[in-house]
Amino acid sequence: MIELKNIHKQYPGVPKETLKDINLAVQDEELVCLIGPSGCGKSTLLQIIANLEEATSGTIEVPDEMSMVFQSGALLPWLTVEQNAAFGLTAKGKNKKEAAREVKPFLAMVGLTELAQKYPHELSGGQRQRVGIARALAIKPRVLLLDEPFSALDPKTTHELHEDLLKIWREQKLTILMVSHLIEESVSLADRIVLMKDGVIADTFKVPLTYPRRENGLPFHELVQKIRKEFFK
Ligand code: ADP
Ligand code: MG
Repeated sequence: MIELKNIHKQYPGVPKETLKDINLAVQDEELVCLIGPSGCGKSTLLQIIANLEEATSGTIEVPDEMSMVFQSGALLPWLTVEQNAAFGLTAKGKNKKEAAREVKPFLAMVGLTELAQKYPHELSGGQRQRVGIARALAIKPRVLLLDEPFSALDPKTTHELHEDLLKIWREQKLTILMVSHLIEESVSLADRIVLMKDGVIADTFKVPLTYPRRENGLPFHELVQKIRKEFFK
């Protein structure tokens, strides 16, 4: 579904390469978490995949239908929840009425039906992030890209959004690539965890645990420890 070969990225004026020879393939309906210390190049890689940033060299294969969920929700303050969620559709030229109708099931999916006519400033952080997810889903993408989508939220809200994301992933048969800097979060969600360090892929870990992951007890914590050791090495 996503295939990256020999990706390099050097920003102008930055002496060393931000990404060095990245090779990564993400399968159809796989959920991959990209983790690594701050500044290792995770967002750069995601932006290259999303075509928001250009690689210096290398080849990229991605489907046309991709959506991005940003850390802050990135909502337009003058639009309602419904209009924000429909933004990807209206931006593509769909008329407003039709877009509003199309977006309804996605607002329901993230539990926002009742809040459809509210404005972003009337919402909690978690609700704003749900609008961002509904907006991303409304264009019916095959691939969902998320850059630390839950990092500004409290643990309970994060947990609820994890559950919802897993449900949406299964029901919509999505391929998901999510950036995180939290090891436990990625072990809770991913089929496979890709650890980046200093612009290279340092390691990858399969997660052969059943959901809900934390209920696996010891195997969950052992895998977290194993990744933690590599993360801080
Ligand atoms: P991460 O998401 O893992 O924290 P980033 O991909 O944001 O890392 O950044 C990786 C490196 O690339 C950092 O050293 C950062 O300063 C640099 N960088 C990111 N974006 C730009 C940019 N637009 N121009 C110059 N340097 C950048
Ligand atoms: Mg980042």
